[in-house]
Amino acid sequence: MEALFGGSFDPVHIGHLVAAEAVADALGATIRFLPAREQPFKRAAHGATAEQRAEMLELAVAGNSRFRVERVELDLPTPSYTVRTLRALAAREPGNRFTLLLGADAAGELSGWHEVEALPGLADLVVFARAGVAIPHHPLIGRVVDVPAVDVSATLVRERVRLGRSIRYLVPEAVRGYITAHGLYR
Ligand code: ATP
Repeated sequence: MEALFGGSFDPVHIGHLVAAEAVADALGATIRFLPAREQPFKRAAHGATAEQRAEMLELAVAGNSRFRVERVELDLPTPSYTVRTLRALAAREPGNRFTLLLGADAAGELSGWHEVEALPGLADLVVFARAGVAIPHHPLIGRVVDVPAVDVSATLVRERVRLGRSIRYLVPEAVRGYITAHGLYR
């Protein structure tokens, strides 16, 4: 099973990785991290470029044979509507059925999605439970997977960098090195 885990990943952190590993385990799935060029629901300017976010993801997935980075959205027009992305993947990989992973917060926004009615034809939906967020009810949600609660967000990581605080253990070491080397989030 091929599961897509979309997000801005600005930057990828242990909350994403722990959740993805738990889903890979529960579903026997391969996880493709799908960095968005621009999130339709996140209009704020990104701290890192799309290319930098993808590079940090490459560093984060290295060594995990069930993880990879899917760069398809980086070449699509913005904003990165999920339905548009799924169509591009279907065209590139005909016959491949995808599972779309959503955090509970993202699942709560489903009704506002561009062309949400086309989703069932394009992918199955799996929601993973994130700490402190209730699971919304939506007819398209097929399955809910519990993941270990990790109370880390990219906002927290960026804020800590901005304040000169340590982000060690909040992101993989290679990602931490990349953030320092590129002077991100200062
Ligand atoms: P930001 O703080 O910038 O809003 P974020 O940490 O929520 O970012 P995103 O890239 O927006 O990260 O997240 C992509 C997906 O990962 C979302 O569906 C979100 O629910 C999920 N996610 C983010 N952080 C965690 C976490 N700590 N545990 C489980 N899932 C998470």
